[in-house]
Amino acid sequence: MIEAVEGVEPQRARCVKALNPSVLTLDGTNTWVLFEPDAERCIVVDPGPDDAAHVAAVLAEVERVGCEVALILLTHGHADHTGAVDALHAKTKAPVRAADPAWCRGTVALQDREQIDVDGLVLHVMATPGHTADSVCFHLPRDGALLTGDTILGEGSSLIAWPDGRVGPYLKSLKRLRDFAAAGESLTLLPGHGELVLWGLPAIDTLLAHRVKRLEQVSEVLDAGAGTVDEVVAAVYGLPGPALHEVVIAQVQAQLEHLASTGNGRAAEAMHR
Ligand SMILES: [Zn+2]
Repeated sequence: MIEAVEGVEPQRARCVKALNPSVLTLDGTNTWVLFEPDAERCIVVDPGPDDAAHVAAVLAEVERVGCEVALILLTHGHADHTGAVDALHAKTKAPVRAADPAWCRGTVALQDREQIDVDGLVLHVMATPGHTADSVCFHLPRDGALLTGDTILGEGSSLIAWPDGRVGPYLKSLKRLRDFAAAGESLTLLPGHGELVLWGLPAIDTLLAHRVKRLEQVSEVLDAGAGTVDEVVAAVYGLPGPALHEVVIAQVQAQLEHLASTGNGRAAEAMHR
């Protein structure tokens, strides 16, 4: 459970953490139950992995809050967020909405800048492709909070795995979120994994700086003679453990693709070797 912090805690969001910790899911997937105080209906964001105990925990939280589930939303289509979609949909009869129509149940896909309103609980949809093509964030204006899915995690940087993950769109999405955070009052991030982030703007700035630095590093090792994906992986990441090897390769491919798209011929060549 994510501990609330007095004065800054979201009033309208409860986290139910799935018991699926791993190198990729950190301490587990966060399922968020969103509700307007005293409302009769709520929203569930990211049902989580295919795990009956987790679905039961989410439904118990919904009951504690005293609501019925009116809508199920997805931040993106990865299995650790969507494995429980059909179980939760079957139990609640609530429609499911995502940016990818393939994940929708009984309704239409989410649109960028769309406003969602369930019994006065207002959310704004922000398309933030990059981690996946279908990634979205949900702004909860009355709590000054942003549900970020895997676009921004509670700690560390999220995986951009080629080909669904793309670095160019990811940087654009982070910049959009950065401008959004800078334009408003303080923004609390409610991520898909890890703890909530109280200060959104500096966290986004740190992530952006990290990404730019990584791209510079990749560009440097290409200049220094790395000519294949494996050589770039070794030079930038050392020897990732077996659990991470595949995803680090996909991440380096995403970095190379981005550098190639900005005119780096060495990156274009290394990408396919
Ligand atoms: Zn995830």
